[in-house]
Amino acid sequence: YVFGTPFPWHVALLGFFMFPAAVGYGILRQELFEIRMVAKSSAAYGAATLAITGLFAFLITFADALVGRFDVDARSPAISVAFLFFAILLFNPLRVRMQRLVDGFFDRDRVAYRVAVREISEAMVSMLSVKEIVDRILVAVTDTMGVEGAMVLLLDDKDEVLRPEASRGGWDEEAAGATFRSDHPLCRQLWMRRTSLSRGDFDEEGDPEIREACRDVFDTLDAELLVPILFGVDLLGVIAVGRKLSGERLGVDERQLLRTLANQSSIAIENARAFDEIAKLNETLEGRVEGRTRELRDTQAQLVQSEKMRSLGQLVAGVAHELNNPIGFVHANLQLLDEYVEKLMRPGTDAESRERIREAIAKLLTRSREGTERVKQIVEDLRTFSRTDQAELQEVCISDELDRTLVLIEPRLKDGIEVVRDYGQVPPVRCFAGQLNQVFMNLLMNACDALEGRGEIAVRTRPADGGVRVEIEDDGPGMSAEVKTRIFDPFFTTKDVGKGTGLGLSISHGIVERHGGRMWVESEPNRGTTFMIELPPEAPVEEAQ
Ligand code: ADP
Repeated sequence: YVFGTPFPWHVALLGFFMFPAAVGYGILRQELFEIRMVAKSSAAYGAATLAITGLFAFLITFADALVGRFDVDARSPAISVAFLFFAILLFNPLRVRMQRLVDGFFDRDRVAYRVAVREISEAMVSMLSVKEIVDRILVAVTDTMGVEGAMVLLLDDKDEVLRPEASRGGWDEEAAGATFRSDHPLCRQLWMRRTSLSRGDFDEEGDPEIREACRDVFDTLDAELLVPILFGVDLLGVIAVGRKLSGERLGVDERQLLRTLANQSSIAIENARAFDEIAKLNETLEGRVEGRTRELRDTQAQLVQSEKMRSLGQLVAGVAHELNNPIGFVHANLQLLDEYVEKLMRPGTDAESRERIREAIAKLLTRSREGTERVKQIVEDLRTFSRTDQAELQEVCISDELDRTLVLIEPRLKDGIEVVRDYGQVPPVRCFAGQLNQVFMNLLMNACDALEGRGEIAVRTRPADGGVRVEIEDDGPGMSAEVKTRIFDPFFTTKDVGKGTGLGLSISHGIVERHGGRMWVESEPNRGTTFMIELPPEAPVEEAQ
């Protein structure tokens, strides 16, 4: 480039100097090296090297003089080289030691920072309160770096505000009470740039609004550096660092230490918050479990109640049907009676007619009495069926109880379902008959549901082990193995919503068990279903209540 051009050579030389000058400027501007420290340590190196070199020269001269005195042919190059070699060997450890000393002296800050980081990471492993962590960070920052003060501001997730959590050193009131919204430009800048920021970092910010807003924060807090505490993509808080007591600016090392501390604290703070939440959850857990259990118990009670209401509904339908006939004809008879009495009282009725009317009235009264007898019997049956007034064990004939129940489900049978009774010679059983009737009612209702209006129900009783065995069989569609394994589970139902509660069989199972008996089922798809119940001659009193 230089040769063969008319370009004056010293201009080219200028370019030669411009390059290191530009690099030097870049280093200074972008703070690539810590110039202050590099300069200091270079000066120290220079001084040390000078001292060692002086000593070396002195020794060489001294040796030379010594050799001259003993008249050795010192001019021989072999001896000189050997001597020099020994001298270098001798000086090398000294040089290494000196270098270490100088390095150690200028690197002492870095050593202190390393120790601080190690200590703080060890301590944070066991810290579980945000307050403790924040205090520890503040101590590390102020003590290790020799700054005026440090403050930790944390983001409050609830009202989305960054506010001081703790501080150390001198902060004025304005700084101590400062709060910033999470959408403040500075928070956004810290979140976006993900590095510590000083006031000077906004000199080149193009948007004057952002620049001023961010500078304001530095002025309010009177902080030199703001270090973001980031966890994943979230900004948890900020460490605000004041000026160094020595008056120097915070260097690269210090910034790095602050970043490391912020990272450590973010993990520790998140852990502590999670721990806090778990602790709070634990505190309320017991109460919540109790609440849920109560709710479940209430729901269960409601469902059991609705199952009872369903049985009651069936029962009422049966009773109404049974009562309707006798009451119907008693009512019609009363009307006839009315007419006959009027005829009887009418003047001019001859004796023969009176006699006929009297006979007719007598017949009507007899038949009406039969009707009311029937009504009385049904009401009596109903009371016996439910036996709500009898909490004591009673001796009953299970076949009679089955008959009583069958009377009540009469309207469900209609014309399509035939009931075949096959009662054996069974011994009486001491039981709570009302409860057992609820079981029989349930099984018969399920059979009617399965038959859908057409089929046969066989009801059998047989003596078994001193007690009684009851079988209720239908020739309905039966059940799959899967359904069969679950029918006694509470709330298991294959019926439509509103038609089944899934409680009938589980309640029945409970009643039979409390009577000291057992209940099981035999069923296959398309082969019908048979429910079997075995009852001991006497129920264990206390358990059947
Ligand atoms: P729900 O009748 O309210 O469904 P249950 O506990 O009485 O509750 O019955 C549970 C389930 O058992 C029924 O949904 C039905 O699938 C089955 N089941 C009971 N009895 C019979 C039967 N005789 N034939 C076929 N399936 C039956």
